[in-house]
Amino acid sequence: MPELPEVELTARNLSSWLAGRKIVAAAVPRSRIVRGASGAAIERMLVGRRVNGVERRGKWLALRLSGGAALYAHLGMTGKWVTRPRAEGPLPHERARIDTRDRSVRYRDPRMFGRLVPAPEGVAPAEWAALGIDPLRDGLDGERLGAAIAQRSRAVKEVLLDQALIAGVGNIQAQEALFRARIDPRRPTRSLTARELAQLARGIAASIAHTLAVESGPEISYVEEPGAPNPFLIYARQGQPCPRCRTVLQRIVQAGRATVYCPRCQRR
Ligand SMILES: [Zn+2]
Repeated sequence: MPELPEVELTARNLSSWLAGRKIVAAAVPRSRIVRGASGAAIERMLVGRRVNGVERRGKWLALRLSGGAALYAHLGMTGKWVTRPRAEGPLPHERARIDTRDRSVRYRDPRMFGRLVPAPEGVAPAEWAALGIDPLRDGLDGERLGAAIAQRSRAVKEVLLDQALIAGVGNIQAQEALFRARIDPRRPTRSLTARELAQLARGIAASIAHTLAVESGPEISYVEEPGAPNPFLIYARQGQPCPRCRTVLQRIVQAGRATVYCPRCQRR
């Protein structure tokens, strides 16, 4: 599932494909990913405008258009933006298409948990406005992390998934960051010391940087896809030896989501 690094790479790709270019054609068939307007209204908003830039906040994207309009997009669980020659026909699970003079950009989404939200006046959707600190855009250190989460009583793994507190960290990045910081995912958040919060902030930054480095490319694969590589230290590696101490990694379920951790490195 796409999290901050995958959405960041998508934003960079979209920017390199579209920024500074004029949209000459668009196709947004009716589907449940389209919100707030019809697909036809999105097509009318896009065609003839120039893409000024692509912004990311948390797991959301914003295509900034000439004239102040914007198209907000979320990848959901299986969404991907890819580029193809203009002459190529529709791809499997294609939900939207944006063409410039020499390129066609397609949005594919088999499970359709993604979103396309037009903002003709540039007004951001409520989900974008409600996002918390973005570790990559805003920077994150122990103090800022503490200010955002330290009063919470829930387990730190669950708190890290709250997009209104820390935007972009999902189930994968939370597990990886806690492992890097050597913090037990079940710890009540308010029990973390200033030193642990600083370690966790560094763990989040390091995990995001690692993921960006290994997944960079024009077509990003998600780890849950059949045959996709697993570039992560502990994610989905229950039963395997800890990469640090060789203890067998354990799997637990927290708030309905799986968590893998090392019972030796991440002590309570
Ligand atoms: Zn270990």
